[in-house]
Amino acid sequence: MGRVAGGVIQCVDPRTGENTQEIPCTSVANIPGSVVRARAAQVDWSDLPLKERKAAVAALHAAFLARAEDVAEALAQDCGRPAGEAWTAEIVANHELFVFWLSEIDDLLTATPVKLNPINYPGKRGMVRLEPLGVIGLITPWNLPVAIPLRALLPAVLAGNTVVWKASEHSPQTAALLAELCDKTLPAGVVTLLQGDGAQGAALVQAGVDGVFFTGSVDTGRKVGAACAAMGIPAALELGGKDAALVLPDADLDRAAQGITWAAFGFAGQNCAAVERCYVHRDVFDDFLAAVLARTASLRAMVDVGPLVTEAQLQTVCRHVAEAVSGGATIQTGGTTEGPGFYHPPTVLTGVSEEMAIMREETFGPLLPISPYDDIEDAIARINATDFGLTTSIWTRDLDLGESMASRFHCGVVTVNNHSFTGALASAAWGGVKDSGHGTTNSRFSLYEMTRPKTILVDASKRPEMWWYPYNESLLQVTRGVIGLARTGEPKLRALSSVISGLRTRFKEEK
Ligand code: NAD
Repeated sequence: MGRVAGGVIQCVDPRTGENTQEIPCTSVANIPGSVVRARAAQVDWSDLPLKERKAAVAALHAAFLARAEDVAEALAQDCGRPAGEAWTAEIVANHELFVFWLSEIDDLLTATPVKLNPINYPGKRGMVRLEPLGVIGLITPWNLPVAIPLRALLPAVLAGNTVVWKASEHSPQTAALLAELCDKTLPAGVVTLLQGDGAQGAALVQAGVDGVFFTGSVDTGRKVGAACAAMGIPAALELGGKDAALVLPDADLDRAAQGITWAAFGFAGQNCAAVERCYVHRDVFDDFLAAVLARTASLRAMVDVGPLVTEAQLQTVCRHVAEAVSGGATIQTGGTTEGPGFYHPPTVLTGVSEEMAIMREETFGPLLPISPYDDIEDAIARINATDFGLTTSIWTRDLDLGESMASRFHCGVVTVNNHSFTGALASAAWGGVKDSGHGTTNSRFSLYEMTRPKTILVDASKRPEMWWYPYNESLLQVTRGVIGLARTGEPKLRALSSVISGLRTRFKEEK
C-alpha cells in the first residue's frame, strides 16, 4: 500500500505494516502537458500499420514474460500478493490476454461492410471502420494492479489510441515496473504513467482526454462519471460488487465448498467478484458448512491468504464482523485480527440477516457469510436485492437448469459451478449492472468503448438519386408505390406499376 503526503508515496509492505521505499507523485500541474504529448504521439501511433503496432505490443509481451519474477515480487511488495495468486491471476492470465489481443485484433478491427440493396442504391459500397478515440485516460485500483490496467491498455493501444494511466497509490511499485516495460517497448508517449492518488486521477479527467476507463469503488466511480459528463467525454466504469453464490440441493458439495472457499478468500477477498454472500439450501446447509470449514482450516496465512492491502480495508472488515456479531451472527472460524501486518484470517459466519452491512455493503475482505434458504424464489429475490450486480454463481449438478437460471439474476456475469474467474478470460465480456458500473472490459465488446465507428460510403453511380431534387409528382408516385408493395391488402400490381411509371418519368418532368 502507499500513503501519500508531501508529493510522495510512502510505500508500506502490507505483510508487515513497515515502510519501504518512497515514490514521487506526478505533479498535478504537469498532467495537462502529459495529455498534450500523448495526443501528439497518438497521431503517429495510429498512422502506423497495425502490423507495426502489433510488433511493438509483442515486444511488450516478451518483456513482460522475461520480467515475470519481478512482476511477482512487485505484487508481493505492494499488495502482499501470495505467489500462487501473482502467477495465476497476474502473470499467466495476462500472458493469455496478450495472446488473445495479438491474435484477434486484425479480425476485430476489420471494417464491416454496409449492406446496400443495389436496386435502391446502385453503384455504391460502404464500410464501417473502428477508429481510435484518441487519448484514453485510464484510472485503476490496486487489487489487480497488472491485469486491470492491461485489459484496457492492450486493446486501446492496438486500436491506435495512446493511454495516460493513473495507477493506484497503493500499488506504485508494480505500476512503475509495468511503465518501465512500456517505455522500453512502445514509442514515447504511447503509455504515460501518472503516480499519485485522487488528486492526480481527478486532474487526468479534466486534462483533455477523449474518454476515461475507470475501475474502482462506487463512490469514486460516481465522481469520475460526473466529471466526464461535465467534460462531454465517455466513461466506462467498472465498480464494486457484492457477489452471491447459490448452492442448490443437488450440488456437488465438495466442489462447491472448494470453489466458494477460493472465491471468497482468494486475494484475501479483495476481488470485485469475490463471493461475499452465500445462500445454501437448508437440506445441505450443515454438510456444506462442514466442508467449507474443513477447507478453510487448511488455508495458510500469507501463502494461501494474503493480507489486506490497506489499514482502511482491515478496519472495514473488522467493522462488518463486529456489527454482524452484535446483530446475532456466529463466527464459525476466524474473526480475530492477529496480524502480522494487515492480515485478517479467513472468516466464516452464519446466522446473518439481510439488513446487516456484511450482506449489503462491499466488504472487500476475507469474510464468507453463509445463509440457508428453503424456497428458490426467495433465494433469487435475496440475491437480486442488492445495489450491486457484478457476478453470481449457481452450484448444481443440473447444468441445463443452472444455465436456464442465468437470466433470473441482475448482473453482468453468471457462472454455473464456478465463480469470478471469467474476469481473466480475454474473450469474455466483463462488466456489471446497477452500482457495479457500466461499460465493458475484455472481448470485442470492449473495443467499442475505445473506438468510434466511422462509416465510409463510396459512390460510383453517375445517375441522380431518386430522393434528390426535384420533389415532383413522379417522386411521390415511386414512394407511394414502394409503400403500397409493402402494405397488407393493397393491390400489388397497381403499386408496382406506380413505381415503374414514376421511375420512368422521375427526372424527365424537369426537362
Ligand atoms: P478507489 O475508488 O479508491 O480508487 C480507484 C482509483 O481512483 C485509484 O487510482 C485512485 O487514486 C483514483 N481516484 C480516487 N479519487 C479519484 C477522483 N476523485 N477522481 C479520479 N480518480 C480518483 O478504489 P480502490 O480502493 O483502489 O479499488 C477497490 C474498488 O475497486 C472496489 O470497490 C472493487 O470492487 C473495485 N474493482 C472493480 C473491478 C471491476 O472490474 N468491476 C475490478 C477491480 C476492483
